[in-house]
Amino acid sequence: MSQTIDANDTNPLLDMLDAHRLPDFAEIRAEHAEPAVETLIADARRAVDRAIAESMDEASWATIVEPIDAAGDRLERGFSPVSHLHSVMNSPAWREAYQACLPKLTAFATEMGQNSQLFEAIKRLHDDPAAFARLNEAQQRVVSRMLRDFELAGVALDASDKTRFAEIQQRLSELSTTFQQNLLDASQAWSQHVTDESELAGLPASARALLAQNAANKDLDGWRVTLDAPSFIAVLTYADNRALRESVYRAFSTRASDTGPNGGEFDNSALMDEILALRHESAQLLGFANYADKSLAKKMADSPAEIETFLLDLADRTKDQARAELAEIAEWARKDGVDEIAAWDVGYYAEKIKEDRYDYADEDLRPYFPAPEVIDGLFRVVQRLYNVDIVALDDIPTWHADVTVYEIRDTDGSPRGTFYLDPYAREGKRGGAWMDGFQSRRVHADGVQLPVAFLTCNFSPPIGDDPALLTHNEVTTLFHEFGHGLHHMLTRVDYAPIAGISGVEWDAVELPSQFMENWCWERESLDLFAAHYNTGEKLPADLFDKLYASRNHMAGWQMLRQVEFSLFDLRLHRDFEPTSATSILDTLAEVRNEVAVMQPPVFNRFPHSFQHVFAGGYAAGYYSYKWAEVLSADAFAAFEETALFDGATGKRFLTEVLERGATRDAMENFVAFRGREPSIDALLRHSGLGGDRAA
Ligand SMILES: [Zn+2]
Repeated sequence: MSQTIDANDTNPLLDMLDAHRLPDFAEIRAEHAEPAVETLIADARRAVDRAIAESMDEASWATIVEPIDAAGDRLERGFSPVSHLHSVMNSPAWREAYQACLPKLTAFATEMGQNSQLFEAIKRLHDDPAAFARLNEAQQRVVSRMLRDFELAGVALDASDKTRFAEIQQRLSELSTTFQQNLLDASQAWSQHVTDESELAGLPASARALLAQNAANKDLDGWRVTLDAPSFIAVLTYADNRALRESVYRAFSTRASDTGPNGGEFDNSALMDEILALRHESAQLLGFANYADKSLAKKMADSPAEIETFLLDLADRTKDQARAELAEIAEWARKDGVDEIAAWDVGYYAEKIKEDRYDYADEDLRPYFPAPEVIDGLFRVVQRLYNVDIVALDDIPTWHADVTVYEIRDTDGSPRGTFYLDPYAREGKRGGAWMDGFQSRRVHADGVQLPVAFLTCNFSPPIGDDPALLTHNEVTTLFHEFGHGLHHMLTRVDYAPIAGISGVEWDAVELPSQFMENWCWERESLDLFAAHYNTGEKLPADLFDKLYASRNHMAGWQMLRQVEFSLFDLRLHRDFEPTSATSILDTLAEVRNEVAVMQPPVFNRFPHSFQHVFAGGYAAGYYSYKWAEVLSADAFAAFEETALFDGATGKRFLTEVLERGATRDAMENFVAFRGREPSIDALLRHSGLGGDRAA
């Protein structure tokens, strides 16, 4: 990329680091990224060399672990704004900057992971009984984890295998970036311009207003349907126009693939094959049979077989219910003259059945969920549960006018952490919702660095002069992501590698997030914020009762879908054979034959947009959602047994789970909170699947 920064210019990505300031988003430009990363890598290399030299005489926390961690922390803080802006303000300039940085960072990470001298220095500390005994328990855990991670980075390989392993890492990081970019491009390449309002029959006023706003943003009359979540969900849920539903479904379910309206243009097919092959090869280099086995080194589950048994058991318990749900959908569709239901009919008739049975539409709830009130209500829920205050910070630069910065404080006013909340869908922003750390809690020479998080959602934006009005599902997503945020920010652990979410077994990471969702389903918590945006009237009792009664509407269907995705991901990474002719789509078809109650159309290319697995941290780990839901449902049951805001139970969850990070195994945290190991009963009960286990 073009270098427009010379050595004498200041670089906002670097200037903030030593002062431990928040990023100056008003000043950060794409051209700052590459020089900052180059400087930070060079600094880190020098710090590592110095630490290795100084730990020759005595390997201690101060000579080896602290300096290595400090260098890694600087690099993380310098690069995370780059990575974040690339995700939420995507543009050609940020793309170029990100792509320029990534190979350097990947190469450096591999170089560190395979640095034998560094490994030996840390091993000397670990193996010296006197020195190791001087470390506190958390420090000992950091050291043991570092040794494990060196092994997983190939430190023990011979020179030629090290080279191959490094090549693979390099290529994998490139592939996952391209996967994500193809997906974003494909999502934005498609839209449908509607000029005749009758084609939008069935769509609620809010959805029409959103589509009209989408059109106006492009200087078009009429309405513009896009593949942003608020738009495509509205069409698939409400549009009476079956052809419109099909058209949106076709575009959405074929994104970044060889089929559909943009087929072949942003095709991820070859990338996915290569990703799987390279993951397999890297696992084998390390001595694992397959990538699934390798990934278990950092998980609660013991074996792929244990995970598969868990998933198939859920499928068995769910299938009959899902079949019944689908049969009812088919029956409703027949009344409209649809003899054979298609994938684009399911959401539509599911909503019709819900409206009939429970006598309300999702849309009816929206006026009671104005985003500013919901966000404020979330904070009040958290305040009551964990006795912390959350206040907005003014005058902190951000990357977009929609973003607000907040601080979490103890009741005595002392800060615990900071977060940026970026709630609404917009062009150039990656889809989905997620929490990312800018920095982790860690002690350093000048004090304690407090955690900072980026919370990103893609909610329905405000329309006209009204506040954004959220669906209940969006409210639940906000609580979910904030659960991740609390895990990151409320930690008391002083060492970044095991503070907050860092170092937590991946299949336990969804515990704090799914746990928080429960407060979106209770009268007492909803009363803290659900009020009509015009009249201030609280959510009426009968509407709440209907919402609550419909909680498990289509629960069998939803559960089976999650099981299908999880099994597919697990088998892709467990059963990969370099010489096999079985394709990714074959594996998916086999899984669907086994667990699905309805086959999607042949053009469906779900895997091509499965970014959790092909471009995120969930490879061989998508099952984590269901796995951790056993934990989160059972954890919430502790409040069902006492009270929704029971002080002692909240405090116990705070101190035994949220504040602990990875200083203990996730199972130990859970047992310390609950007094016993988790039981699946609460999950089954909450899903309406009965709580007793069949013999
Ligand atoms: Zn999550």
